[in-house]
Amino acid sequence: MDEMPNVVVVMARCISTDQSFGIRVEEFSPGAWKADWAFAIKEDRAKKEGYDRNEISGEFAFAKSYPGCPYCQRKALVRCGCGTVFCWDGDSKDIDCSVCGKKRAIRGPVTKLNSRADH
Ligand SMILES: [Zn+2]
Ligand SMILES: [Zn+2]
Repeated sequence: MDEMPNVVVVMARCISTDQSFGIRVEEFSPGAWKADWAFAIKEDRAKKEGYDRNEISGEFAFAKSYPGCPYCQRKALVRCGCGTVFCWDGDSKDIDCSVCGKKRAIRGPVTKLNSRADH
């Protein structure tokens, strides 16, 4: 029996331009996710599609085809305690969250993705 792969779009934000983008993730085995695409999308449009309510958890990796942030091409991601996911250079430690305003709030790497607004 063929099963459709579980494909979800989660929202993230570019840390250098503060623009939102969507990340397409696929569950390639139970609890194991792979990001394989990212695309620029306006926040109101993403809300309409329900992308801001999507959530995945489990192991998280990037497919080779993952293009990185559509604005600055960074390939890594970090997540703030408030639930906002940002693109990341894989290296910076002193990152301030532009959504909840916390200083140095962000720690990576991401093992769980959600873009639910908890604030
Ligand atoms: Zn970016
Ligand atoms: Zn935050």
